[in-house]
Amino acid sequence: MPNSLTIHRLIERLNSGDVTSRQATEACLNRIQSIDRELNAFIGFDSEEALTQADVADKTRANGGEGALLGVPIAIKDAIAVKDHPLNCASKILGDFVSPYDATVIRKLRNAGAIVFGRVNMDEFAMGSSTENSSHGPSRNPWNIKHIPGGSSGGSAVAVAADECVASLGSDTGGSIRQPAALCGCVGLKPTYGRVSRYGLVAFASSLDQIGPLTKDVRDSATMLQVIAGVDDRDSTSVSEAVPDYSSNLTGDVKGLRIGLPREYQVDGLDSEVKDSVNSAVECLAERGAEIIEISLPHTEYAIATYYIIATAEASANLARFEGVRYGARVNGSDPQEMNSKTRGIGFGEEVKRRIILGTYVLSSGYYDAYYLRAQKVRTLIREDYLKAFEEVDLIASPTTPTPAFKIGEKVDDPLQMYLSDIFTISCNLAGLCGISIPCGFSKHGLPIGLQLQGRPFGEPDLLRCAHTYEQATDWRNKKPKLD
Ligand code: GLN
Repeated sequence: MPNSLTIHRLIERLNSGDVTSRQATEACLNRIQSIDRELNAFIGFDSEEALTQADVADKTRANGGEGALLGVPIAIKDAIAVKDHPLNCASKILGDFVSPYDATVIRKLRNAGAIVFGRVNMDEFAMGSSTENSSHGPSRNPWNIKHIPGGSSGGSAVAVAADECVASLGSDTGGSIRQPAALCGCVGLKPTYGRVSRYGLVAFASSLDQIGPLTKDVRDSATMLQVIAGVDDRDSTSVSEAVPDYSSNLTGDVKGLRIGLPREYQVDGLDSEVKDSVNSAVECLAERGAEIIEISLPHTEYAIATYYIIATAEASANLARFEGVRYGARVNGSDPQEMNSKTRGIGFGEEVKRRIILGTYVLSSGYYDAYYLRAQKVRTLIREDYLKAFEEVDLIASPTTPTPAFKIGEKVDDPLQMYLSDIFTISCNLAGLCGISIPCGFSKHGLPIGLQLQGRPFGEPDLLRCAHTYEQATDWRNKKPKLD
């Protein structure tokens, strides 16, 4: 079925006239209809509009038009603005807000010919690691629906892994693309901070957020990045560094590539199956000529605390704009202040409130120096650890997550346990690096395991080349969850 194809295979078949974009889009819609009641990946889509876009793509192709994603159905995380579609961040506070404009990434997808269809589920305002903090209820892991799919871009990962779309966009502030990709068995790429415009992404922690693709293989990840990367005058933090040709770099050759293994990543709580799978993946790369070097990232133990101070501080400021006046929902009160506090009290979920309170606290006078300023200093030390390591190595390998997907409900009442599951993904954002998660095995219970590779700023070409080499040496990507 065309919905289960990668972007590059689908493009081949569209070009040969084997299949039309309408058929591919219908196949995705049918798939959603048959399995999404169980998986809860999609929170909204407009079938008619999707099919209209597909017809336009088919016509363009018939007239000799081209595009890297011409006719390919892509699902979008509910944190990215799509013109004339609801934008809710899986939160009640946005009410019936409809986006008046397209995010830059959406504009770029459209220019490349993509079918922008369907909004997918997430943790409210991207705060979470399991998609359980969604006002739409949790999404479910397609490999075992009793388990979480990861988060916060859980819907994006489920939709790709379960073939409800061909590829999707997510956002990653502390692991939200890589972690669900790992837990659902697909490929998730967090680009270097500044590589992709954040214009039109609802801000969680602006110094950490990046948009990136979730795909069925590494070549697709390169294609998607090619389309969405680049400087944007609407996002002053986007960087004008030239965008290389990512796909032409997928040579299958890692000879001489130096891969670091951080000593500090042997943490308590690292599952033995995850550890074994990642070790085998590293061996596989060594057999293909990569050089494996032990490195040290001495400030790793402070990463989670640092992240949860900086991210919550930024979130408390960013979320101040949802006050019942400018966007979405309003609960009336006898004066503006009561209206404001009632709206926020009812509109935000528990986890979001917890973070706003934490963030406000670490920024408050008297505590600012002790928490926020200190965290910023430690952030610099974490970045320096990496930059030093990157003098010796080209990439850093590790597990993406300490365990395979946990059960729905297992950690909801224990936020600290939930935060600890982000140990391997968070530093990448704090240091502004690029990172990718690719499938590297399964637990004995049949749940996917992810290998994470991290690269230096703008090191996506090496990152993708290494990920692709490993992927092609194994056949994890051909395994599909049984859902029918
Ligand atoms: N799990 C992390 C958090 O809850 C990361 C989320 C993200 O990357 N958006 O903040």
